[in-house]
Amino acid sequence: MHRIVASISTLAEHLAAVQTNPEVYRPQACPRCGVVGLWGHGCYYRKGERSTGGATREPVPVPRYLCPGCIRTCSRLPSFMSPRRWYCWAVQQVVLLLLLSGASLNDCCGSTGRAVRTVVRWRDWLKEHGESFAFILRSRFPELGRVPDHGAFWRHVIDSMSLAQAMAWLDRDLVVP
Ligand SMILES: [Zn+2]
Repeated sequence: MHRIVASISTLAEHLAAVQTNPEVYRPQACPRCGVVGLWGHGCYYRKGERSTGGATREPVPVPRYLCPGCIRTCSRLPSFMSPRRWYCWAVQQVVLLLLLSGASLNDCCGSTGRAVRTVVRWRDWLKEHGESFAFILRSRFPELGRVPDHGAFWRHVIDSMSLAQAMAWLDRDLVVP
């Protein structure tokens, strides 16, 4: 299941697509039972998407689809939104980049205004999944294989493709936790 639509990377593009081309968000098949031919089922609203882009505190509509097989709904997200997080990838990227560059937790929280427990959760998420993410990214982008350690590798990923695009790639191969 591709939960992330990689080609839509900004709020403006997303809002335009919802108005003019919501088909881009229609999953090919139900992620739970595999039935194809999902029905459009309106939108749900993600409350106050937190982003560095500003003007995103309004609820953001996300097209929703209903499976005629298991009668459950599903949806896909633009690449700037993070599937299970309140904050978009761009905000997480700033925090992770600071930590990967050697900033202390306190400095990172101080300069980004994020709560310690939020920063710790993101840091630990990347620590826990970084190896398996790196394995898949290196198989797609062999040039990443030359970067040895965790910190240098992820700084290079963020530099060369952004965290959002990396997660969109990973989403094609495995579920991004
Ligand atoms: Zn289903």
